[in-house]
Amino acid sequence: MNNQKWTLETRLIHNQWKTDGTTGAVSVPIQHASTFHQASFDQFGEYDYSRSGTPTRKALEETIAELEGGTRGFAFSSGMAAISTAFLLLSQGDHLLITKDVYGGTYRMVTNVLSRYGIEHTFVDMTDLNQIALNIKENTKVIYLETPSNPTLGITDVRGVVKLAKAHGCLTFLDNTFMTPALQRPLELGVDVVLHSATKFLSGHSDVLSGLAVVKDEKLAEDLGKLQNSFGAVLGVHDCWLVLRGLKTLQVRLEKASKTARQLAEFFTKHHAVKQVYYPGLSSHPGAQVHKHQSNGAGAVLSFELADAEAVKKVVENMTIPVFAVSLGGVESILSYPAKMSHAAMPKEERLKRGISDGLLRLSVGMEHADDLQKDFSEALQTISEGVVHL
Ligand SMILES: *Cc1c(COP(=O)(O)O)cnc(C)c1O
Repeated sequence: MNNQKWTLETRLIHNQWKTDGTTGAVSVPIQHASTFHQASFDQFGEYDYSRSGTPTRKALEETIAELEGGTRGFAFSSGMAAISTAFLLLSQGDHLLITKDVYGGTYRMVTNVLSRYGIEHTFVDMTDLNQIALNIKENTKVIYLETPSNPTLGITDVRGVVKLAKAHGCLTFLDNTFMTPALQRPLELGVDVVLHSATKFLSGHSDVLSGLAVVKDEKLAEDLGKLQNSFGAVLGVHDCWLVLRGLKTLQVRLEKASKTARQLAEFFTKHHAVKQVYYPGLSSHPGAQVHKHQSNGAGAVLSFELADAEAVKKVVENMTIPVFAVSLGGVESILSYPAKMSHAAMPKEERLKRGISDGLLRLSVGMEHADDLQKDFSEALQTISEGVVHL
């Protein structure tokens, strides 16, 4: 189906997987077979063994490839499985340039695992293109980006990095989990490998662990396909189906949540108990302009800083609506405490350098009514505001 004339919003529903070719079913069938009968002795069919491919996984892989504007997509058993498998494109002696604000699991993979296989790395502040240019080495093979980054929503100039990478003949990987193709399509900006934790916004209901990778280049697609099959961390068919179902409502979920996130970001900015707000949709955010030129929106994740750990504890204990948990991108709002959750393993000094103080909270906005959420925060913040002198 040539559906490029439709917007992404429509294509999420009306794509080639809209109906099943054999039965007309309007939901992709879950095909459980682990092996496939070959009708001809000397000519094998499209499927042979389910690690290499299944019709259900194919539906998800082709859907995400189409949405990201790639040629091929790959589904993995988790975001980390997608990221780790993509790292297998590197060889001993290669160097990896990576954002210092990288997701904790990726940090662990690079520092604890890849280093043992002779793959070097340098962490840099990727909000500054000069830092990237200065740290590219002769053997740099991959520049790894995450924008907006976690949890302080730092912005990297994707086109700027791609230009530097191309000049040095190295690949660019981008973790697009926070944005999804609804808000940011890195392949269109020249990035080589787009990675996702589909556990988050893509599936959207906090009920499935999954990862995706998408590429445009045919050779890269072939290489990554072989690695997916070799490493074998593929996504099971039920989970493929859950991601496919979640994807159908991606646009409406993100639009609504982003709108609420903006309202809350503005509310926090004006609140005297909040020291700082991190949201790329605020014009005061240092990366706002760059982000605007490479995306369609600021997304549904924001962070804000209170005075200290005590204030955080009081506010969290007085909140009714959000769940207090790790993860993001669900229909329910999720409030996380980076200092004790995602960045607990990081030495305090390193954390503080990244703006992750003991007063920082991250909020992934869900589908609740914006005014209810604001009221909930307002009441919880009231418990730490009493006694504060208003100037
Ligand atoms: C959650 C997350 C990951 C890891 O994905 P899993 O599905 O948990 O393995 C990677 N990157 C980002 C930005 C994430 O939020």
